[in-house]
Amino acid sequence: MNVYFDPEFDPQTEEMRDMVVQFARRELVGPATADPDEFRRRWQLAGKQGLAGSCVPVDYGGSGLDAVAAAAMMEALGEGGSDTGFAFSMAAHLFAAVMPVVEFGSEQQKNRWLPALCSGQSIAAHAVTEPAAGSDALSLETSALRDGDQYLLNGSKCFITNAPVADLFLVQAATRAGGGFFGLTTFLVPADTHGLTVGRTYDKVGLRGSPMADVRFTDCVVPAAQVLGSEGSGAVVFSTSMKWERTCLFGIYLGVMRRVLDSTIDHVRQREQFGTVVGGFQAVSHRIVDMLARYESARLMLYRSARGIDAGSESSIGPALAKLAVSEAAVQLGLDAIQLRGALGLLDGEAETLLRDALPARIFSGTNEIQKNNIARELRLGSRRRENRR
Ligand SMILES: Cc1cc2nc3c(=O)[nH]c(=O)nc-3n(C[C@H](O)[C@H](O)[C@H](O)COP(=O)(O)OP(=O)(O)OC[C@H]3O[C@@H](n4cnc5c(N)ncnc54)[C@H](O)[C@@H]3O)c2cc1C
Repeated sequence: MNVYFDPEFDPQTEEMRDMVVQFARRELVGPATADPDEFRRRWQLAGKQGLAGSCVPVDYGGSGLDAVAAAAMMEALGEGGSDTGFAFSMAAHLFAAVMPVVEFGSEQQKNRWLPALCSGQSIAAHAVTEPAAGSDALSLETSALRDGDQYLLNGSKCFITNAPVADLFLVQAATRAGGGFFGLTTFLVPADTHGLTVGRTYDKVGLRGSPMADVRFTDCVVPAAQVLGSEGSGAVVFSTSMKWERTCLFGIYLGVMRRVLDSTIDHVRQREQFGTVVGGFQAVSHRIVDMLARYESARLMLYRSARGIDAGSESSIGPALAKLAVSEAAVQLGLDAIQLRGALGLLDGEAETLLRDALPARIFSGTNEIQKNNIARELRLGSRRRENRR
């Protein structure tokens, strides 16, 4: 019995979804690993399937999917594969690094980078966060000083997804100290550029299959031709990439939630206590219904946001709501799935893995508190309402 409301995908999206679920079941199973060789092997396989450049126009080597289909593809990766970290890395590459090149790159930059980024040959990372600038992403200390037709980059980045394996970094740096929104610029910096060093890697509790490291720039010379967009447009590039990431990346969690919800329903229908299946106890069945309601609501919000992107919406509310809803639903679903399995839920398995993989989702792409700030700002909740009294 299918208990889910399915968004009405077009036939091509349905077919692509099924193909990606099968691919992930075949190739993205086994323990999550950030081992660089195994990671690269999986990446190249996924690249051959068209996953690394799914929403990049066909002319540049991508599959030309829209945001709804790209989110469905991510959902399929989460549903079919057990390595959520790998899917996360692929989504960070695609939405936070490749899509900005599509949207802001010059023809020369697109032709230089996109075919290899789409085929699985090259991996990209977007480096914004710094030790003293996390949520306050406009206060970056990494500087880019112009000197003729080149820039000199100095500074440190931390928590950068894909850094240990990346071939290309999108780097946000301050071209005007204290310049705020218009003080940042995005640079395309190949990993082998002199002065760029990848530092220590992190061993995270969740998303273990996604490699992460610090990156340092020491008198790193970057030609002006490698500015993405224009000088001062870094914050626009960043917020545009977040629109994609806060929507489509979170499809991964919908896929994982569905898998865990299915297996939790199976569990409560076969585990017997007090002479009956535990699913017959109201405390258990209501928890399952709450899980289903949270999953379905989050899914509706995510696809609504994806449709907004496809319709050209500039609002940041849809992506922020999608990110909030999916990440909070995933954490709660992980907790509920563990509780409903009893002690079995604490053993190594998909319920505890979902919880560990979901906790970072409240933090990356801008924390959930920052999403609420963004939504409140767009609603202008801090502006006094003009009274219309006569
Ligand atoms: C799995 C993962 C992958 C990541 N990948 C990348 C990457 O590829 N590239 C990259 O650049 N960064 C990446 N990051 C870093 C991420 O962007 C930051 O962790 C995030 O922006 C929060 O910054 P912070 O960790 O410094 O927390 P802080 O900013 O120090 O926040 C600490 C707490 O204070 C709260 N807080 C801060 N300011 C406010 C405020 N104004 N109002 C209300 N609450 C506030 C936060 O919500 C949080 O709860 C990644 C992080 C994770 C977990």
